[in-house]
Amino acid sequence: ITFADFGLHPSIQKAIDEQGYTKPTPIQAKAIPVVLTGVDVMGAAQTGTGKTAGFSLPILNRLMPLASESTSPARHPVRALILTPTRELADQVAANVFVYAKHTPLRSTVIYGGVDMNPQTQALRSGVELVIATPGRLLDHVQQKTINLSQVQVLVLDEADRMLDMGFLPDLQRIINLLPASRQNLLFSATFSPEIQKLARSFMVQPTLIEV
Ligand code: AMP
Repeated sequence: ITFADFGLHPSIQKAIDEQGYTKPTPIQAKAIPVVLTGVDVMGAAQTGTGKTAGFSLPILNRLMPLASESTSPARHPVRALILTPTRELADQVAANVFVYAKHTPLRSTVIYGGVDMNPQTQALRSGVELVIATPGRLLDHVQQKTINLSQVQVLVLDEADRMLDMGFLPDLQRIINLLPASRQNLLFSATFSPEIQKLARSFMVQPTLIEV
């Protein structure tokens, strides 16, 4: 199996080629075709397995038909929300998404606590299709009405087990309640503990299980 087998948009394939990725990792080989179909996915994967590309590439591909060349913020609503437990992971995921999207008109930004909100507000105001965020700061932006989640079509919980360990469950529930009912949900976790399974049952629709 090669990346070409996924039939990704040429602008996304170009970024993959430039990264020097020749072969999908096992999680990518399993996750990419499934995520492309738009169904909910529960993936068991640790960092270092290539899971970030495993969800980012198909999400970007799904958003491509909606990608506007216009610079008008209204033409770039938030369509994908990727939640991570820590700033470090948010930064890593955002760096990956930025690279994979660089030949597309899709825009992204990263949002986390402990830093000034204003640059984040400016980025959101300029229009971004993908937001990579930690839960607490995302809710701060919701409260300040500096983010609009009404157009979100894809939700990703990355390292969901760590988010639960860190006590983010109430924040996650609040965020999920703000999203449109019709959307794709992806959950990645190193383990599928009973808590994770309970969380998954609470917001996912017949998720496809992917393990490597
Ligand atoms: P992740 O597990 O998503 O944090 O990815 C781990 C590292 O593997 C990152 O530095 C990626 O850039 C890299 N990577 C992801 N997919 C591939 C691939 N198919 N071939 C080579 N390297 C990859």
